[in-house]
Amino acid sequence: MSDARPRLLSADAFTQPQAMAPDTIVAVSTPSGRGAIGIVRLSGTAAHRIACTITRSVDLAPRQAHYRAFHDDDGEAFDDGLVLYFPAPRTYTGEDLVEFHGHGNPVLLHRLVALACADGARAARPGEFTERAFLNDRLDLAQAEAVADLIASPTLRAARAAHRTLSGDFGDAVSGLVERVRLARAELEAAIDFGDDVDTDALLAHQGEHRAALCRDLTVLLARAQQGVRLHEGLQVAIVGAPNVGKSSLLNRLAGVERAIVTAVPGTTRDLVDVDLLIGSVPVRLVDTAGLRETDDVIEAEGIRRTQGAASAADLVLHVVDRLPATALPDTVTAIPRIVVRNKIDLASVHEEREVGDATTCVPLSALTGQGCDALIEAIERFAGIHGEDSGEFAARARHVAALEAALEALRGIDEAGLADAPELVAEHYRQASDALEAIAGRYGSEALLGDIFARFCIGK
Ligand code: GDP
Repeated sequence: MSDARPRLLSADAFTQPQAMAPDTIVAVSTPSGRGAIGIVRLSGTAAHRIACTITRSVDLAPRQAHYRAFHDDDGEAFDDGLVLYFPAPRTYTGEDLVEFHGHGNPVLLHRLVALACADGARAARPGEFTERAFLNDRLDLAQAEAVADLIASPTLRAARAAHRTLSGDFGDAVSGLVERVRLARAELEAAIDFGDDVDTDALLAHQGEHRAALCRDLTVLLARAQQGVRLHEGLQVAIVGAPNVGKSSLLNRLAGVERAIVTAVPGTTRDLVDVDLLIGSVPVRLVDTAGLRETDDVIEAEGIRRTQGAASAADLVLHVVDRLPATALPDTVTAIPRIVVRNKIDLASVHEEREVGDATTCVPLSALTGQGCDALIEAIERFAGIHGEDSGEFAARARHVAALEAALEALRGIDEAGLADAPELVAEHYRQASDALEAIAGRYGSEALLGDIFARFCIGK
């Protein structure tokens, strides 16, 4: 009979691991290698107990730095440093969290990990701390992704964009839009329920205004997210043109180092040479390609085939010419946005100026002297949409951009006429828009998506 009543659980029942596998994870949280300080983090219910054992402490007061010796299982100390204990739930992971700050020797740090594992923890998978933060609602998915972006940011500007997303600004902007879509849908559904009593003209007008404002704000957010993707992922830029126009010289000029062989013999660059560099604020993978020309040389022909492949996979083509009009490019390449680079302006013989013939930007410069290169850098930044001062970009991923585009498409797909005739269909568009937006925060994230995102993190994060 007593079994029929809910049993009171002791406090322990909440702190004991429920599953067989240890719930407490441990990892070195600083990159391997030697340094002044190394950090080992533990998260889970056993974290505090394990920390007390290693530091031979009866207790560790929360949120304070304690200076302690770190003891091996034979009782001898092998390092000393700070230990910090943060009780759940106001921690990074939402669980009890401990940090050991020891000397930055991997041997010592891995000994701490081994001791923790011998005492009930297990080694964390890549990104598992942040995954737990997501699962425990400490971060939404966009914020979790921003943690990885902040760590990998190639520039300070990209880091600031990642920090903006991490602090929740991007998520707040998206939630604001979700709420507005929800209100529009609620208004429409109420109208459907009330049937004939509704003033259809007033409803149409109101819905139209509401949707126009939504699309406007969504477009602005999309642009900021696209900039964020560029800041982080950068551009693939292919340098193409006829042999001997100065493609390799341009790559070397932009890279600031000799990467490609420069010679006066046409057909020298027979394979692709690529280099990662920053052009202004834009991370760029620059690919120097074999000169495009008719050839009987089998190896050169293969180089040209690869050139066309690299160019058609690029976001931007720098079409180098040493005289105008520009030589024609293969069809696969003309489909890619391009900047015509009119090289060798230091030579009087090619100084005559002519139009490029279409709306394509033409930048005159000299790869040899560097004259005009700033204008090319500016044109590339402008193309990437990251020109000038920091404009409040949000670190974002391609999946966020795709979600914002899908939401925009769903809203733009609403047919005014359809609103009067088939309001249920319009409501369905609203539903698609809010589903797309909510996926950004990970509301409907599949296991595969989560696995994919967190597997890209480093261990310890
Ligand atoms: P690629 O075959 O298109 O890669 O051309 P290279 O970069 O190998 O250059 C071919 C030749 O043009 C070399 O002799 C370079 O020194 C020369 N060259 C490249 N850029 C310039 C330039 O801006 N001015 C002058 N005067 N010569 C250049």
